[in-house]
Amino acid sequence: MSAISSDVAIIGAGPVGIFAVFALGQLGLSSIVVDALHEAGGQCAALYPEKPIYDIPSRPSVSGAGLIDDLLRQSEPYAPAYRLGRRVETLRERDGRYELGLSDGTQIEAGAVLVAAGAGAFGPNRPPLDGIEAYEGHSVFYSVRTAERFRGKRVVIAGGGDSAADWAVFLADIAASVTLVHRRPVFRAAPGTVAALERLARGGRVTIAAPRTLEGLEGSDARLERVLVRSPDDAVEALPCDALLCFFGLAKDLSALAGWDLAADRHGIPVDPATMATRRPGIFAIGDIARYSGKLKLILSGFAEAASAAHAARAHLRPGIVFHSEYSTSRGRPGLEAALEVR
Ligand code: FAD
Repeated sequence: MSAISSDVAIIGAGPVGIFAVFALGQLGLSSIVVDALHEAGGQCAALYPEKPIYDIPSRPSVSGAGLIDDLLRQSEPYAPAYRLGRRVETLRERDGRYELGLSDGTQIEAGAVLVAAGAGAFGPNRPPLDGIEAYEGHSVFYSVRTAERFRGKRVVIAGGGDSAADWAVFLADIAASVTLVHRRPVFRAAPGTVAALERLARGGRVTIAAPRTLEGLEGSDARLERVLVRSPDDAVEALPCDALLCFFGLAKDLSALAGWDLAADRHGIPVDPATMATRRPGIFAIGDIARYSGKLKLILSGFAEAASAAHAARAHLRPGIVFHSEYSTSRGRPGLEAALEVR
């Protein structure tokens, strides 16, 4: 299989990985960014998009989502390639370059790698139901890409937060039926959404099954027919179902890193803070995943680390080529205009 190729592969599209695209672009280096999530932004987008951040230099206040939008705009001129919704699972060296194997079976090839993996690959929390894997992507979903997919379907939604409540309200107009299952009688969603949910329940357009817990799945050939739910008095009920949407939040998974020979542990990847170099030549770690004495797990530290790693990656990729450092005010965005290097 042919691999797509760039100067640098960035693992993680959190704020630090996205800023690294810009830092590399300033030095004339192209990048490909991979993230397990379907959306760029890491913790800022996935965990606190609406919350204000107060300690980004020159920004008195910016929301998590607002910061990511601006970082994406800042790096856009360097035309990074994004591969979202897939994990980097393997990292192998071949003839001084690196091959990254992604969870969808594709490969990326690059001369240097920046690991900006934060607290690990984000993925959905799966309910512990026997055989659920066989239905995933066919009848069981952890996010909604297109609501149309559920038109005319009997949908069961599990969860008690904003995502579960929002989609129950939205799909009430599209699906044949919507049943919302939650282990508590109260929902942790925005008050307006809860009010809309209650209105739809009174009108018979959404059925609320709460408190109930998911108990099992019944169906065949990846097609779900019934979801079994258990009530507090231990009665088990079968809900007719074509699609089950589970919204139980996100889990973080650092397990892939264990096989990359970077001495990674649950505290991160040890690096030289001067260059962010890991113990493998051409592989750098930045942002929350990087570990060194005095490390601050802050976005602003991650930005500085991305700049240091970009310079070190340039030196790794262009050995022996003299680099004249200049401020961006003097250079503009030179990666777009002219070569930086003189022999
Ligand atoms: P992350 O944002 O964690 O992004 C890493 C990305 O890498 C993830 O999207 C993940 O899916 C992806 N990834 C990991 N492994 C793989 C793999 N194998 N394959 C594919 N993708 C992978 N910091 C501040 O400076 N100021 C604040 O006010 C602040 N407030 C916060 C509030 C909350 C509630 C939280 C949770 C954090 C806050 N932080 C704050 C911390 C800040 O969000 C982190 O320091 C920052 O997100 C780290 O950025 P990152 O790019 O290193 O990693």
